[in-house]
Amino acid sequence: MTIEAPIKPATAERPTVAERLTSASTSSDLSVDLEKRGDADYLIAAGIQRAGLGRLVQQLICEWDRREKPRPLTDEQLQRVAEQMPRKSRGRLDMVGARVAEGRWHMERRMEILRGLPQYTRLTDAHAGFLPWVLAQGIKDARAKLTDVLLWWCDRKCPGCGGVKLGEMAICETCKGFGTREVPHEAEGQLISGHIAAHVDRARSGTIAALKRMKGLKTVAAGKG
Ligand SMILES: [Zn+2]
Repeated sequence: MTIEAPIKPATAERPTVAERLTSASTSSDLSVDLEKRGDADYLIAAGIQRAGLGRLVQQLICEWDRREKPRPLTDEQLQRVAEQMPRKSRGRLDMVGARVAEGRWHMERRMEILRGLPQYTRLTDAHAGFLPWVLAQGIKDARAKLTDVLLWWCDRKCPGCGGVKLGEMAICETCKGFGTREVPHEAEGQLISGHIAAHVDRARSGTIAALKRMKGLKTVAAGKG
C-alpha cells in the first residue's frame, strides 16, 4: 500500500457540535421548548441519526471529558520523585528526568482511562469499529496505533507542559508554546486521524441537518402538529 503525504485532519479543532453535546449531556436544563433551541435539542438531534462511528467518537470525547484525570505533580512532589532517581553531576537532582517520568506516568494513566470508556470498546471492535479499516490500510500494530490516535482525539494537550504552554523557565520545549501535541505515529497516524475526522464530520452534518428538522419534530412530539 502507499501512504499519502501527511495531511492535516479535516477537523483540526474539536467539533463545535461535539462541544455543545458535551455541555448538553451534563445540562441540568433539558426542557424542550417549541420556540427556542435548548440543550435537549442537541441530544435529540444527535440521537435520531443512525449511530455511525463519528457519533461514537463524539460520545467518546464526552465520556473522556467527564472522567477525573490525574493532576500534574506539584513542585514538591516532583522534587520527591527526583530524589528517588540517580543524581546528576555534583549530586544535583535530575528534575528534567523527573518531569519526563511524570509525563510517562500521566500518559499511562490517560491510556488506562481511555481503555475503560464504553465507546472505546465499540470503536476498536474487530468487526464494527475502525479497526477493520486500519488493518485494510496495511498498518502494523493496528490496534495500538488506533488507540493512540483515539487518545489524541480525546486529549491533545502537550505532555511536556500539560497544555499551559510554559516550561520550567520559559516557553515549553516540547510543544514550542503551542500547548498541543502532534498526532502520534506520523503518516500512519495522520491517515487514521483523517479517516476518523471524515466520520466525525459526517456525524456533525447529520446533527446539524437533524437540528433543522427539529422544530417540526417538536411540534409533533408536543401533539400540536
Ligand atoms: Zn508544552
